[in-house]
Amino acid sequence: MLLQTEEHIKIKWSQCIKEKAEALGFISCGIAKADFLEEEAPHLEAWLKNNYHGEMQYMENHFDMRLDPRLLVEEAKSVISLAYNYYQNLDRNPNSYKVAMYAQGEDYHFVVKEKVRELLDFIQEEIGEVSGRAFTDSAPILEHAWAKKAGIGWVGKNSLTLSKQKGSFFFLSELIIDLDLAYDSPIETDHCGKCTRCIDACPTEAILPNKTVNGSQCISYFTIELKDQIPIEMKGKFDDWIFGCDVCQEVCPWNRFSLPTKETRFIGHEKINQFSKKDWEEITEDVFREIFKKSPVKRTKFDGLKRNIDFVKSL
Ligand code: SF4
Ligand code: SF4
Repeated sequence: MLLQTEEHIKIKWSQCIKEKAEALGFISCGIAKADFLEEEAPHLEAWLKNNYHGEMQYMENHFDMRLDPRLLVEEAKSVISLAYNYYQNLDRNPNSYKVAMYAQGEDYHFVVKEKVRELLDFIQEEIGEVSGRAFTDSAPILEHAWAKKAGIGWVGKNSLTLSKQKGSFFFLSELIIDLDLAYDSPIETDHCGKCTRCIDACPTEAILPNKTVNGSQCISYFTIELKDQIPIEMKGKFDDWIFGCDVCQEVCPWNRFSLPTKETRFIGHEKINQFSKKDWEEITEDVFREIFKKSPVKRTKFDGLKRNIDFVKSL
């Protein structure tokens, strides 16, 4: 009888957390038990061994932490997985270079993290002494594995989390807390089926047939992560992308249901999609600062973006 009461409390808290997440603008919220990611361990090991992370050396660090949230938060009991929509109907100049949709407006690291922290504050105010940490692409966490476990979606062949209702144009965040909650059922069905659109459309053939993305071959890696020169053998393959790439999401049939985000901070400077190729090629550091003031594009710095433009331009 006591157990049943505890179960009811967990259900009530979980419901309360999900309602608050929705009120904060998250399009999905699921909860999974904080446990060792047994299934994912061999995949991560093989991915690293194959050097699919390229120069992203940080991926090699904290191997154990990536697989066990209890090493990130003491006494962790629950992983709350959250999705935040960033889809926009972009009116792109068809004869220009392209910036990934997620990077058009303000940096999600700040916009979304602020909301995850707000959710943690709410839990602490409403439930009591709960310890936890908020993560938005900022810690060694296998976010897609947690989204699957928490019932948000399945991991598609393009290695992104996909939802039948919401597609894949969303950021994932996690809140790891030391509170037992009612757990959602994982998504076990892979709704990619026989579709291979993302594999066929990937400009650099980075998506392998076995549901693995060779990160070191991906345009996002080359234009954002890589610090050195872009390898010459990639010339002619970037399809005008100068920061990130949306191809494997644009072609995905599940994204036909995507609705525009309500987050106005993700709407970028109009010049980003109106610039001609010439405008991009002649961009000055002042203009770069103006249009990417709070954008994640700042991460690549002016010189990095120039490198990308020069690489794509000289084809
Ligand atoms: S982001 Fe672009 S380059 Fe990277 S896997 Fe997807 S389609 Fe390929
Ligand atoms: S394009 Fe097809 S194979 Fe690729 S993620 Fe979408 S549904 Fe899956």
